[in-house]
Order: sequence, then structure tokens, then C-alpha cells
Amino acid sequence: MVILVTINSLRNVASTSGLAIMGGTFDPVHNGHLRTAVEILDRYHYSGMKLIPCFQPVHKDRPSVLPEQRLDMARLAISGDARLSVDAREIDRKGPSYSIDTLRDLRSEIGPDESLIMVLGMDSFLSLPTWHNWQQIMDYAHLLVVSRPGWEPDLISELSGFCENYRAASSHELQCAPSGRVWFETLTPLGISSSMIRALARKNESIAYLLPEPVQKYIEQHQLYR
Ligand code: ATP
Ligand code: MG
Repeated sequence: MVILVTINSLRNVASTSGLAIMGGTFDPVHNGHLRTAVEILDRYHYSGMKLIPCFQPVHKDRPSVLPEQRLDMARLAISGDARLSVDAREIDRKGPSYSIDTLRDLRSEIGPDESLIMVLGMDSFLSLPTWHNWQQIMDYAHLLVVSRPGWEPDLISELSGFCENYRAASSHELQCAPSGRVWFETLTPLGISSSMIRALARKNESIAYLLPEPVQKYIEQHQLYR
């Protein structure tokens, strides 16, 4: 019996190395996003991480640059790391970008057994109860919540109940099941945001070293965020 259980859990680990995704506006993509992605991949060796720029953010104003430009910048940003990819499905789909639609789509592509891990910053996690059909997310994916400077895990009652239900006992659980667990991870704190970069560009101040150089060049060349 014990041996059977052990063999089964080993089989689970082997067959569910895990696909990580990170959604966002990426307006523009920056080193806070990219360090999050590589630190998570270095720690957990998931098969890869897809950055998924949204078409129309549900809880924010319309981005000031074109969706295709945000996509171009994301593609320029990841070119140095083969584990990272950019997935254009939300931009191709158009309309409001609901994460639940994207997760449902991805789940049907990867099948029922593969582990799917949605990586999001603490600020996004705290807004979870305002997301469209948020309770269903756990049927499709795990949530890996990463620290973000300025955001404390100040859980309102809805979220603390949610964490009680879904919190994993160890990060390993996210690779042993396809979905349904929440895990919190502390990463190198980087106080970088897209809004800060947009504000600097608007004031004609340098945005160097906050984002990859090719993205900086793209912003300058296309005179974005002026
Ligand atoms: P804005 O300032 O326009 O809101 P942003 O910097 O928050 O932009 P988003 O595209 O909204 O970037 O974020 C996408 C995801 O990346 C979110 O889950 C967010 O929490 C996370 N994230 C963004 N910046 C960081 C950072 N510096 N550290 C950790 N997570 C981050
Ligand atoms: Mg944000």
C-alpha cells in the first residue's frame, strides 16, 4: 500500500513538471516582471513561463500604447532566455481579458493532468475577489503569489477563507496536482512598476536599468509614453 502510494506520487511529479504563466498589462514589461519569472523558474524548474499580455485590462484604464506595441516589447524582453515565451492569445481574442477564459483555454490545450501555475504579485492577488468568476480559477490552475515591495499580505476576510481552503503545505504540492493550491513566495524585492516607468518617460527622465535595453530603445524609437 505504502509502496503503491509512493510510486503514484513519483509518477505524478514526473508527469506534471508544470507550466507557469504570468498575465499582465506589460505597459511596458520591466525587470520586476522578468526577475519574477526567472527566479521562479530557477527555483521550481517548471517547463517554462508564458507571459500573457492582456488586450483590455478589466480593472485599469485603457493602456496608452497599442496592444501590438506591448506585445513587441514583451517579445524583445524575453529573447535572452529560452524558458520564457510570450503568448498573444488575449490580444488575439480582443475584448475584456478575463483570466478565467485564458486558463480554461490553456487547460484544454495541456490536458487535465499537467500542472498549471498562475504567477501573480501580491497586489494582484489582493484584488482577486474583484475578478470575473474568481472562485473558479482554482479548478484550472494553482496560484503562486510573489512578494512585491509596498504590498503586505493584508487578507480581507474573503481571501483569508480562500487561503484556508487552498493553501499548500509545501510548494511541492503545486507540481503534484494539476490545480487547486495557493503558495506564497518571497523574491528579490524590486520596487519597479510600469506606472513608474511611464511617469519617468513623460517627464523625459531616464528609464535605463529598469527594463531591458532593447525595450528601452523601442520606447525611445516609437516615442511612447511621452
Ligand atoms: P502598472 O504600474 O501599470 O500597474 P505593473 O508594474 O503593476 O504595472 P502589471 O503588468 O500590472 O505591471 O503586472 C503584471 C503582474 O506582474 C502582476 O501580477 C504584478 O503583481 C506583477 N508584478 C509587476 N511588477 C512586479 C514587481 N516589481 N515585483 C513583483 N511582481 C510584480
Ligand atoms: Mg499593476
